[in-house]
Amino acid sequence: MSLKVVLKKLFKAVMTIPMVISGLVTRTHKGISYKLVYGTVDQLVMGYAFDPSLQKKATIGLAQLGGAFATVTTQEQIDEICQQMINAGKKPQADITRYLSKPGYGIVLVKDFLKDFNRKEMKAIYYHELGHLVNGDLSGNPTGLVVDLDKELAADAYAVKYTDAKTMHSVLDKLCKNIFERFAPIVTSEEMAVIKEEFFGVNGIMTKRLAALQAM
Ligand SMILES: [Zn+2]
Repeated sequence: MSLKVVLKKLFKAVMTIPMVISGLVTRTHKGISYKLVYGTVDQLVMGYAFDPSLQKKATIGLAQLGGAFATVTTQEQIDEICQQMINAGKKPQADITRYLSKPGYGIVLVKDFLKDFNRKEMKAIYYHELGHLVNGDLSGNPTGLVVDLDKELAADAYAVKYTDAKTMHSVLDKLCKNIFERFAPIVTSEEMAVIKEEFFGVNGIMTKRLAALQAM
């Protein structure tokens, strides 16, 4: 299958999924099977409706991650959430998202954050996340979230292979802008300072990523 065909399918999926609540399809890239999830923040945190504190935590997590992320859901996590639902007096699986109902890899695209990106930038975002899957960044990572500079640099390089450094750089620029917009209402000024340092300090993840892309 050619890249063009893959992308055509991808964008078709991206455009049709929102019609389905918490849209989800199973896809394969380089022999790796993953769930493609596309939804708004509200839709994505719906699985935690039984516990407002978990819902708030998930909302903050999504704000932190921005437009997209690669993840892995384990059977243990699903069991844990089901147990929490039982504890909260809810029937397991009743309102849990389909995304969480099966273990495995996933790429989550968060609709709220993607409206500012053009198609080429969307492609860079998508291949950045596929890079995490291809590079095995989620293996043995129980939380399933990637926040490691070397892994981010490698995933950026993977996205650049399918797009170009300028596009990936533009994605990060826009993402940085969105990060603060999204963070402002949900974190304290102290937390914001930590976030700014972690992203934009001398050794900040974004500082290093932007420099690496500029040097390409
Ligand atoms: Zn990443």
